[in-house]
Amino acid sequence: PVNLYGELRKNSMGVNFSNDNELRSLAEAVNSHAGPWRATPLVPGASSSGPTVEVTNPADRRQVIGSYVPGDAAMADQALANAVAAQPGWDRLPAASRAAILEHAADQLEARRGEFIALCVREAGKSLPDAIAEIREAADFLRYYATMARRLFGQPEQLPGPTGESNQLFLNGRGVFVCISPWNFPLAIFLGQVSAALAAGNAVIAKPAEQTSLIGYVAVKLLHEAGIPADVLQYLPGDGATVGAALTKDPRVAGVAFTGSTETAWAINRALAARNAPIAALIAETGGQNAMIADSSALPEQIVKDVISAAFQSAGQRCSAARVLFVQEDIADKVIGMLAGAMAELKVGDPGLLSTDVGPVIDADALKILVEHAARMDTEAKKIAEVPLDPAATAHGTFFAPRAYEIPSLQTLKREIFGPVLHVIRWKASELGEVIDQINATGYGLTLGIHSRIDDTVNFIQSRARVGNCYVNRNQIGAVVGVQPFGGEALSGTGPKAGGPHYLLRFASERTLTINT
Ligand code: GLU
Repeated sequence: PVNLYGELRKNSMGVNFSNDNELRSLAEAVNSHAGPWRATPLVPGASSSGPTVEVTNPADRRQVIGSYVPGDAAMADQALANAVAAQPGWDRLPAASRAAILEHAADQLEARRGEFIALCVREAGKSLPDAIAEIREAADFLRYYATMARRLFGQPEQLPGPTGESNQLFLNGRGVFVCISPWNFPLAIFLGQVSAALAAGNAVIAKPAEQTSLIGYVAVKLLHEAGIPADVLQYLPGDGATVGAALTKDPRVAGVAFTGSTETAWAINRALAARNAPIAALIAETGGQNAMIADSSALPEQIVKDVISAAFQSAGQRCSAARVLFVQEDIADKVIGMLAGAMAELKVGDPGLLSTDVGPVIDADALKILVEHAARMDTEAKKIAEVPLDPAATAHGTFFAPRAYEIPSLQTLKREIFGPVLHVIRWKASELGEVIDQINATGYGLTLGIHSRIDDTVNFIQSRARVGNCYVNRNQIGAVVGVQPFGGEALSGTGPKAGGPHYLLRFASERTLTINT
């Protein structure tokens, strides 16, 4: 029998931050890659001569790091024709051959990590530790889905049947998959979606988020060099209204893997449903309104350490990030005081420096939404802390000062706030059930943190909260491939867990073969 959980695969190695030589060589590798990077659609047979879009560094908008040529509807049409023609051959390859290419790509990615770290810092504004983690997660996805493809797709499953009859279950690719990925994990989620779809035998058209088009280009080139045919994996940058819409309304698309906002997932779902075409698979991983609940048995030092990383790491630009800390009244003043103290230590600035804790937000639109939210909170809520910005380090970038506010209830937040803003709500011992009701009532269900040393309380919360990933006495970000399969439910997504044993099955068609022998 296939054991989906026990596997002989190791996740990638990290960087030893206390080893000066390792850090120096990493810094040199990053500095030796300064661009400019140039990207054009990778669609065989289509010419790309449109106007270019300049890409600037979120930490310093004066710095142009490269440019890309966006695709258009005609290119989407050509890409679909290429993919439809190429997919059956790719699907017929043994799963082990597809897996070997993905594993080779993972090795190449690690060998070239300097360039990818530099790109993550300069195009996506990722801090160095986040950029390193991003490369590792991307390599882990490649190897994990390769392992799973070998195990699940390598041979048909033999099924029982009466004497004289053989029954087998085969897994095949569904056809052409469109992968639409987010800018906040421009390499890990991008390659996670793409490698899962490829491992399962699909042809892929990859549309990266516009903000991180260059990283997507370099990643697709790497997969091509590793052995994925150019027609089997195509790169089509551009905006959702042009390229995304042209792809998702097309009857040739068999499935879409999407990570981004709930609103965009609805729009994709509507576009797919409106086609007079085979019913497409939609795998969506969307937003969250994530809470951390701390009771009075928890250690305040631990709560503060974990909520600081869960709310402010990656400038709060993770869908898993903690947006609300529910803290029990008895320890609330102490925790809030310590939180303000810890926030005063945060350094906001150049994400390329190891001393930086919080880098820029992705672009001016994101900044505008955060500034508007802060203006509303300044009048409606009680400010706990705001990290001062050093103008010398932040004046030319899209930086937003991390803040914390005390609010009366979760209803005060009308939408997901995607940035470094934490909200704190006090609760009384008798109100635990209502706290969970408030969290469930948001309709989202992504991550939840619990801080408590009382098993009954942990079990009570954990068994009632409708969330995809629940973390106890630690922070709630940084799910590890194959260790914490990641993904939410309800408004947070369609459910399949990235980096989990069932993910590849969502990219597959199942076929039963019965033979009267
Ligand atoms: N997997 C990431 C984490 O656990 C979050 C992914 C996302 O933000 O989309 O922090």
